[in-house]
Amino acid sequence: LGSSLANALAKINRAPKIDDKILQILIADIERALLGADVSTKLVEKLKGNIREKLRLSELPAGVDVKRVIEKVECAQYKVAIQTKKQKGITVIKEITSLLDSERVAYVPRRGKSNVIMFVGLQGSGKTTTCTKLGYYYRVRGWKVGLVCCDTFRAGAFDQLEQNAIKAKIHFYGDRVETDPVKIALEGVKRFKEKKFEIIIVDTSGRHKQEESLFEEMEMIAHAVKPDDTILVVDSTNGQQLEAQAEAFRKRVDVASVIVTKLDGHAKGGGALSAVAATKAPIVFIGVGEHFNELQKFDTQRFVNRILGRGDIATIVEDMKEQKLDDQKELLEKMKKGIFTLRMMRDQFQNILKMGSFGSMMQMIPGLNNLPKESEEASQQRLQNFLVIMDSMTAEELDGDISLIETNPARQRRICRGAGVHINFIRELVMVYKPFAGFAKNMKKMPFGKNGEMPKN
Ligand code: GDP
Ligand code: MG
Repeated sequence: LGSSLANALAKINRAPKIDDKILQILIADIERALLGADVSTKLVEKLKGNIREKLRLSELPAGVDVKRVIEKVECAQYKVAIQTKKQKGITVIKEITSLLDSERVAYVPRRGKSNVIMFVGLQGSGKTTTCTKLGYYYRVRGWKVGLVCCDTFRAGAFDQLEQNAIKAKIHFYGDRVETDPVKIALEGVKRFKEKKFEIIIVDTSGRHKQEESLFEEMEMIAHAVKPDDTILVVDSTNGQQLEAQAEAFRKRVDVASVIVTKLDGHAKGGGALSAVAATKAPIVFIGVGEHFNELQKFDTQRFVNRILGRGDIATIVEDMKEQKLDDQKELLEKMKKGIFTLRMMRDQFQNILKMGSFGSMMQMIPGLNNLPKESEEASQQRLQNFLVIMDSMTAEELDGDISLIETNPARQRRICRGAGVHINFIRELVMVYKPFAGFAKNMKKMPFGKNGEMPKN
């Protein structure tokens, strides 16, 4: 799919003359890629309309070389930029990304407060699993988390939640005897609130279909516990059905955010675009596996790349080469002077995250490649932890000598508190950083060629 897009762009580059016909081909190829990724036909139509609207060739000012208009179409890049002076930076990617724009801002839990988060969704969508994942996500960041199981519909639902919660070391509440889910929800939330739990997650039951009884129960629970955030969980493998599903939920409860699950499978997740469009609520996380650490913060750019089938590592690395050449040159120049700051490391890590392939990249990083081999998700989580830590640092800490942090436990504690991670992570970060810095110091001593090339040894 991604290659069909690339082919279309190559066609344009080869074409002697750019006209509406060749644009139609481009648009048709984009359409194919999107439909193949389960983006709803309605959204694809809208998108095509938007692109056409912005590329009305016949209305370009006289004298404009149409070929130049599209010469910026670069297939090796993420961006399919089509630029003229008048139409700066209109990109196909941007159009797709804008479909993911929600009207709401995601709820952000507050410290020192009981944040009640209710989960809704169809049976099998991954609610119970995702409840544990989210609980775990907050617990490892130092929040006090409680799970409430009010799925009285499915036999064994409480056992499932209990087992999950024990594994993830999260407090939980349920009742094997009580049959009224509203009572359980109320009681669980009340208890956790009394104990000053900060994240209270309420798991509800789902039915196979969007049945009236499911919605009534859901409404009553919502009414009773008054959640601060209501998260709709959708299964990415449900593809085109997600639009109607999301719409049905939105009508009955105040869906404030969306989590898309099972993106570790074949589904490209295009249907989730429709879920966002239907609920006007942002996607906050994605589920990428059955384990409780397999939850990732949602990243629009990466999601769009996935939809367009641009996940292929080789292409991504190629893109990086082209896009980041200047940055890399600067990095190299600094390293040759023996400089490698935490800030530089942060930028590199951010690039790695953007590229979307972690395990293989991690294998290339000194200090990380001798850690036990871990899953892509675990590697990614590790990088993300490093990034949140570095985000909590001051400019002085990012740009200064590592000893500033290494020798100062109070500073380490402050940074980790801000990042919401355990103090061990910062020690690990220092451990990872040092080989880089050492490498740069050695580089300083190396004789570089006249043009600055690396010495061959
Ligand atoms: P619920 O009925 O909505 O509570 O759904 P469950 O949490 O019980 O999940 C249904 C099935 O989907 C279980 O087998 C989960 O292990 C699986 N599941 C949930 N999330 C993911 C995910 O992100 N990836 C994969 N591969 N499986 C998932
Ligand atoms: Mg469940």
